[in-house]
Amino acid sequence: MTRHPTYVILMGPPASGKGTQADRLQEGLALPHVASGDLFRYNLKNQTPLGLEAKGYMDRGELVPDGLTIAMVLDRLARPDCANGALLDGFPRTLAQAEALDQALADQGYGINLVLDVQVPRDELISRVTGRRLCRACGASYHIKFAPPAVDGVCDKCGGELYQRDDDTEATAGKRLEVYDAQTKPLIEYYRNKGLLAGIDGNQPIDAVTAALKEAIEQNL
Ligand code: ADP
Ligand code: ADP
Ligand code: ZN
Repeated sequence: MTRHPTYVILMGPPASGKGTQADRLQEGLALPHVASGDLFRYNLKNQTPLGLEAKGYMDRGELVPDGLTIAMVLDRLARPDCANGALLDGFPRTLAQAEALDQALADQGYGINLVLDVQVPRDELISRVTGRRLCRACGASYHIKFAPPAVDGVCDKCGGELYQRDDDTEATAGKRLEVYDAQTKPLIEYYRNKGLLAGIDGNQPIDAVTAALKEAIEQNL
């Protein structure tokens, strides 16, 4: 019997903890973590035309245009390691992206299985953004106060160097939250209407959020 691929979406505002949680969930789900922001940063690091085109939008805290974003993510989902599905993080972020994803999956006879919406209040998001540090080598997410590495500036998982994203300033974070409210929040209703949405309280310690996500996955998948 062939298994139907499983597509789980992690939704939530900037710095709500999607990347942190995806790292913890992907093993149990046996699904690759596909994060649109990581894909853009990878392209930027390698100076690809897509990365160079995306940079201006990212620096300003705006969304990269739908056409580029959709092509990049669908291309990633077509790779062999996504044969059983994927844990999507940061995509879709607009109605056009959500519809394009639905269409692409429907064309193959598939669909989204579950949307996990991680909710965190605005003040907490600003603290999380400004203290965030990322590993240059493996992309793992740390926080100078809330999730510090064992050794300052060094990744616990791979020994890589930690850095602060150019767009993780208070000003750009404010802009990203505005963009989230205007363009991404409407997707909550979109998926609720399809009966796919599970709301998660993301304003708890990291382990408690992981437990809540696992419970929602067990109940709904
Ligand atoms: P996202 O992928 O949604 O942008 P991250 O997973 O990178 O968010 O988390 C943003 C920042 O908040 C990181 O510095 C991370 O260490 C920290 N963080 C994540 N989850 C929590 C939590 N539950 N409590 C406190 N800090 C958290
Ligand atoms: P965060 O979760 O902290 O907001 P991401 O790493 O997901 O950050 O995204 C960083 C930037 O990459 C965004 O501000 C945006 O410019 C771009 N980006 C990521 N995902 C998308 C998307 N689905 N659509 C358009 N732009 C995106
Ligand atoms: Zn690392």
